[in-house]
Amino acid sequence: MKKIIIANWKMYYGPIKAGAWIRAFRRERLPKDLDIAVAVPFVSLAAARASLGRASIPMLSAQDVFWAEEGAFTGEISPSMLSELGTQLSLVGHSERRQYLGETDEMVAKKALALQKAGIVPVICIGETAIQRKRGEAAKVIRAQIQAAIADLKADGKAPPIFAYEPVWAIGSGKPCSPQDAKEMHETIRAVLTKKYGKDAERLRILYGGSVDQRNVNDYLTTTGIDGALVGGAALDPRGFGLLCRAALPA
Ligand code: PEP
Repeated sequence: MKKIIIANWKMYYGPIKAGAWIRAFRRERLPKDLDIAVAVPFVSLAAARASLGRASIPMLSAQDVFWAEEGAFTGEISPSMLSELGTQLSLVGHSERRQYLGETDEMVAKKALALQKAGIVPVICIGETAIQRKRGEAAKVIRAQIQAAIADLKADGKAPPIFAYEPVWAIGSGKPCSPQDAKEMHETIRAVLTKKYGKDAERLRILYGGSVDQRNVNDYLTTTGIDGALVGGAALDPRGFGLLCRAALPA
């Protein structure tokens, strides 16, 4: 399975800086056997697309979406609006949205389904909090989040979902989950997917996210069952992110 690294800019970089980031990143030497995407704020997608020109790397991702096609939903962005800008993927259910905007499992499921129907790959983020882990509830929480998210999703077709295991306590904290602990959680996720999709589950990618950087990225990508990474802070500098991609899968 081809590994993928997705940069998440979070709420950084308006159109001007987004264009500059893409142009700088395009100058990086990148591993051929790695998919690379960048999750860009809505307002910067058009500028990122323009700076890409005809290039297809990195793929463009949104950071969120709304589930309806159109209507009286002030401030929201639909999957087809994202498609018009050449957006190929979109994050859904990032823990920062669950935490600050009250996003629920039900909303995440509706968003993922709307994306898939529009041919955009949903990148479904799931993860337990520090307290949940301390109480020994991590696996239970993850199972519930994932079961809710995939209720109506297909595993095959043009836009098979990607899953990102992102323990909340590891995001932006500089305290990553060890590859061994991440592996255990990835096995839990894979088991839920296999129960629903059978053999098709084998082709679904499960990423790790949470304080991944140039030094530790290879440890994750060489761990069985980890199919890539979602990277926040360490992706803000385009040259640093280029270095991270090269460190992920050294030639
Ligand atoms: C993220 O934004 O999804 C993330 C994993 O952030 P960081 O790499 O900064 O922990």
